[in-house]
Amino acid sequence: MLYNVAQLLKEHVGASRHYEIAGELQNVDEYNPGAVPVDGEVTFIRTPRGILAKGIAHLSLVQPCRRCLELTKADVRFDFEEEYIPSIDIETGAALPITDEDEEELIIDEHHILDLSEVLRQYAVIEASRGALCAVECKGLCPTCGANLNEGPCGCIRENLDPRLAELAKLLGSDQDRETERKNE
Ligand SMILES: [Zn+2]
Ligand SMILES: [Zn+2]
Repeated sequence: MLYNVAQLLKEHVGASRHYEIAGELQNVDEYNPGAVPVDGEVTFIRTPRGILAKGIAHLSLVQPCRRCLELTKADVRFDFEEEYIPSIDIETGAALPITDEDEEELIIDEHHILDLSEVLRQYAVIEASRGALCAVECKGLCPTCGANLNEGPCGCIRENLDPRLAELAKLLGSDQDRETERKNE
């Protein structure tokens, strides 16, 4: 995920380059150790201070299903936009001031190399935390006994309630589901 931006740094504000993203992110989070392939595209735009990286990326991440908590593999897509700051003046070779507010992953190194990987990793983690579904029809966990309802009914409703109340509970249950859906959107 390394890009040499020396040439672009010499150009006027607004100049740009477009690249395909094809590579790997390392150790995205606890559920995704090792290498995860990532693809997408990025445009680098010269700004008064540095380079704006703007693009879209896609990867496949293992995540817990937000209803039943089973690990599931889900596609993650996101737009990203961050400004990178050079650490060396491209014309003079002099070191440029870096302040505490400049985040480490957004600094272009002394060889004019811009590294997208940490930014993409952070965006991927945020996107993944919104929660995936193992299946659209995932039944989730029983709120009473915690059983995974995808593996079959746990019997809670049938045993504890009379049939009319069971119907009502089912309706309330599906309302709750929709409520959770909305919160997760
Ligand atoms: Zn599930
Ligand atoms: Zn149950």
